[in-house]
Amino acid sequence: MRTPVIAGNWKMNMTVSEATELVKKIFYGHRHPGNVEVIVAPPLTALYKVAEVLRDSYISVAAQNIYFEDKGAFTGEVSAPFIKEAGGDYVIIGHSERRQYFGETDESVNLKTKAAYRHELIPIVCVGETLEERESGRLESVIEQQVKGGLDGLTSSEAKDLIVAYEPVWAIGTGKTATPDQAEEVHRFIRGILIDLFGSDVSENIRILYGGSMKPSNAKDLISLPNIDGGLIGGAALLAEDFIGIIKSAT
Ligand code: PEP
Repeated sequence: MRTPVIAGNWKMNMTVSEATELVKKIFYGHRHPGNVEVIVAPPLTALYKVAEVLRDSYISVAAQNIYFEDKGAFTGEVSAPFIKEAGGDYVIIGHSERRQYFGETDESVNLKTKAAYRHELIPIVCVGETLEERESGRLESVIEQQVKGGLDGLTSSEAKDLIVAYEPVWAIGTGKTATPDQAEEVHRFIRGILIDLFGSDVSENIRILYGGSMKPSNAKDLISLPNIDGGLIGGAALLAEDFIGIIKSAT
């Protein structure tokens, strides 16, 4: 039985004081999450403070990105050991916005995923097709390439902790959600690739999250499907009430 994960990706929103206020609202608004793992991914400037506020709570902290080298002359970058020491336990890797605006490729996703494992951060590896790729019949080949490229060379013992997020690019921040059937079909397809890569025992434990305009009103229908193990949430994670509503849908 996989424990669902609800992860909030705050993107480039929330100053340190706003972030502190938001996590307090989430925590004090809902102190007993039940059988669900909750993660928030604040911007880097707020990560240390948010992790401090949440120490000993049920909410874990993720970075939104890392660089794959550990340290050195890489101006502007931050590495996995820095995140770990600042209080992060997870890292989002290969979000479509990073692929689209910052040149992230399957190769860099792979290097970053390995860097995360080297420093005991759990990677949340994002994959997803554009509308054009879906409409031209390339959905499966795009997803397969992203999953295989991003996870190349991982061992089964690393993969057992992995989280994958399926985020159709056309559904991110657009208000358009994949229907539960559309999402489940892709999640089942991803699970099949994971089974090929890591075997069925390991792959049955890998959580595959859906992301793309998830909100309290559609979360339950999505998360109740067999291969949808929670959500990666953007917009609705910025409002404590909505985020709590989604956490409740997952329990
Ligand atoms: C995201 O960016 O990961 C995301 C799913 O955004 P939204 O929920 O706003 O579509």
